[in-house]
Amino acid sequence: MARERLMERDQRYTTGRRRIVEALTSTGAPVTLPALLQLAPELSQSSAYRNLAIMEEAGVVRRLVHGAEHAHYELAEDLTEHHHHLICEDCGLITDVTLDASLERSLDRAFEGLADESGFSPRHHAIDIFGRCASCA
Ligand SMILES: [Zn+2]
Ligand SMILES: [Zn+2]
Ligand SMILES: [Zn+2]
Repeated sequence: MARERLMERDQRYTTGRRRIVEALTSTGAPVTLPALLQLAPELSQSSAYRNLAIMEEAGVVRRLVHGAEHAHYELAEDLTEHHHHLICEDCGLITDVTLDASLERSLDRAFEGLADESGFSPRHHAIDIFGRCASCA
């Protein structure tokens, strides 16, 4: 999937890009660039940064910015699965959480109801929950 998306943009799925995708797959949680480089120490910071930007553009990688010191990166949601984020306002930790399917359907129905009046057609939603993580609480 990552390869096809890059090819659509005339971008190759290079070894460096593959290593980033593998590292993001293995963590199962959004990571900062320094954390990513710890997982894949053979990557240089500048090329990892450039490759993340190219893969974000191609829809392979999603960049999460929540006013934390560092942006967090994860694989695009349609390459993984729909989920939400728990964001610690103290340390910046971001954790993926999934809600059960019936709750997701209720949310979508609620948003469709809201959108009806304005003629807006909702396709998907992104909801982040802010608070304190277990170690900061
Ligand atoms: Zn925290
Ligand atoms: Zn996530
Ligand atoms: Zn949802």
